[in-house]
Amino acid sequence: MTNQPGKITLSASGKIQAPDYPIIPYVEGDGIGPDIWAAAVRVWDAAVGRAYGGQRKVFWQEVLAGEKAFAQKNAWLPPETLDTIRDCRIAIKGPLSTPVGKGIRSLNVALRHELQLYACIRPSRYFHGLPSPVKEPEKVDMVVFRENMEDLYTGIEWQEGTPEASRAISFIKEITGKILPPDSGIGIKHISRSGTKRLVRKAIEYALEHKKDSVTLVHKGNIMKFTEGAFRLWGYELAREEFPEATITEEEVSARYGGKPPQDKVIIKDRIADAMFQQVLLRPEEYSVIATPNLIGDYLSDALAAQVGGLGLAPSANIGDGYALFEPIHGTAPKYSGQDKVNPSALILAGGMMFEHLGWKEVTELLYKGIQKTISQKRVTYDLARQIPGAVELKCSEFGNAVIENLA
Ligand code: NAP
Repeated sequence: MTNQPGKITLSASGKIQAPDYPIIPYVEGDGIGPDIWAAAVRVWDAAVGRAYGGQRKVFWQEVLAGEKAFAQKNAWLPPETLDTIRDCRIAIKGPLSTPVGKGIRSLNVALRHELQLYACIRPSRYFHGLPSPVKEPEKVDMVVFRENMEDLYTGIEWQEGTPEASRAISFIKEITGKILPPDSGIGIKHISRSGTKRLVRKAIEYALEHKKDSVTLVHKGNIMKFTEGAFRLWGYELAREEFPEATITEEEVSARYGGKPPQDKVIIKDRIADAMFQQVLLRPEEYSVIATPNLIGDYLSDALAAQVGGLGLAPSANIGDGYALFEPIHGTAPKYSGQDKVNPSALILAGGMMFEHLGWKEVTELLYKGIQKTISQKRVTYDLARQIPGAVELKCSEFGNAVIENLA
């Protein structure tokens, strides 16, 4: 064992291999980014110290993106930032503001595309004591695998009245006979076999590794047959081809096991999106891992976050083959910049996902415990204090201190 900082590597089979002193690049983020970063990094270092003594430690390496990069390097996403992240395999970031009219659609979208981070993983798990609009939020324990690079989000669209929109309308008339109103804007939705299969593969692997009992394919395939309907078909196909022993469909459970699922298999099921929005409210305990196309995933994961305490506590991981980027779901909340006020939990929990990805599960557990204990003590930031009677409102940095105290 060496205590020199080292890079995370991949094994021949593609598994992440973290040294005991890994170098991890980070982007502090814009707006509230510096406040939540300062609180979170102290919590992570304390949790790693508590879990492993001095045997493991992270060497944080700042890389620039967003406003700080533009101010220092005149580039929103300098090439050296991407090079460093590629070299180190993973990174963690705060929120970035979207430069308006600067020739770059979104820094987050650019990062996901550059690193081919095709799965956006968003867990929704309840912390006792949090306000919730539902009666039994403790039953919500779901992880959404949202496809991150296809569907309506690729930005292939033409504004109403442009020659391109007009040509698209003519083309559609020519090949389908359907006449669209000439004053239509046009957008393209695409979902591929390969894109679907790599996402569903990740979701099933996750279910197996975490001993989850089901993977639900959520889609609107009854209407959009060749995109979302195909997503459903390809999802089942992938399970059958690559995980024949480990998975079983709902139909097979009824036909062969009298409706009682065998303990050792992951059930593959599917739900139409509108019905699923009801299901997660009415029968959340029946769902654990969800795999879904980009647009539905966007809506569904925010709805789930609302059931378990809101955006201030919602982390995410963007994962590809060999690369990963962890971040809170919320944005830069510019009106709170520099006030040491907002909730750093989403970033702290994004760190929890990162440590799990490295195989440092002890750290992840400590982070969850620390946040749970602090919330149970009703010591919370403004966003929760305004909803929890009798709560003591803490600043962002004070909340970080309280979590550190509660890491035991
Ligand atoms: P936002 O920054 O997420 O903020 C919306 C509201 O959510 C805030 O006003 C605040 O609500 C609450 N909130 C967000 N983060 C919080 C935290 N850590 N603790 C407590 N409350 C929190 O959304 P936005 O105002 O729509 O977006 C602002 C900028 O962020 C835009 O430039 C957008 O493009 C960017 N953005 C970046 C990312 C990313 O980097 N991944 C994601 C989303 C948006 P209250 O006002 O009710 O207190």
